[in-house]
Amino acid sequence: MPFAVGCWDDPDQAVAGSVPAASEHQTGLAADLTNASGAHGTAFNHTPRGGLLGRNATEYGFIVRYPKGAKAITGYEREPWHVRYVGKAVAAEFERRPGLTFEQYLGVA
Ligand SMILES: [Zn+2]
Repeated sequence: MPFAVGCWDDPDQAVAGSVPAASEHQTGLAADLTNASGAHGTAFNHTPRGGLLGRNATEYGFIVRYPKGAKAITGYEREPWHVRYVGKAVAAEFERRPGLTFEQYLGVA
């Protein structure tokens, strides 16, 4: 498997934007991924796997939950390592509409 799973969200973002005990990770639908050398968090942005994940996540029913340039909507800076499972049908909508946020998809933004 080319990726490993853990939880490496930026703690500064958690302080600024998250409600305690309300992490998306606690739903069991989200995961933070890294590559085989263990690059995670912002270091993952600069690895070939980081780009590969963004381009292929939807094929497997995942979305990159916090896309670039959407902090005003999601509350988070870009986190290309943080994926959320939404199923292949919903993920296909994200594939068709680059930059779409989950909040926009749900109609709450
Ligand atoms: Zn995460």
